[in-house]
Amino acid sequence: MAKSVMNSAQYNGKQPEPEIIPVIEETIFSKIIRKELPSSMLYQDELVTAFRDINPLRPTHVLIVPNRHITTVDDITAEDEAAMGRMFTVARKIARDEGINEDGYRLIINCGEHGRQEVPHIHMHMLGGVDVGPMLSRKG
Ligand code: AMP
Repeated sequence: MAKSVMNSAQYNGKQPEPEIIPVIEETIFSKIIRKELPSSMLYQDELVTAFRDINPLRPTHVLIVPNRHITTVDDITAEDEAAMGRMFTVARKIARDEGINEDGYRLIINCGEHGRQEVPHIHMHMLGGVDVGPMLSRKG
């Protein structure tokens, strides 16, 4: 997400070169990560944070997010590989802590408009505690 913003030269009345400065738009998840907003946080380290979804769709519904704001899977770079890998090892730990590892669970990452991603900060949903149902309803 990049927005065109005025730089200081424009305020000084000089003619600046057109410039696009990326503006990182934080979401509610960044505030949860910084503990500026309350959450049911289950885990945090230097790379990722996990907290319960505020509107759980199954008995266990946990979100695992990178601490660094990354908008979608499409924005991941090689620098993010450690955090992306950590999301999976933390998922494994949380599944054990929640007692759902033996029965199994589903991990979902929605991406963009067609993926129906609502919060533009990458997050992995962990859903379990019950047979979560078929992956998707069949649709044309
Ligand atoms: P998605 O549709 O993949 O972007 O999922 C966003 C998820 O974030 C939804 O399941 C929401 O219930 C959840 N969510 C939104 N706000 C909060 C919050 N403050 N704390 C915990 N989960 C949240």
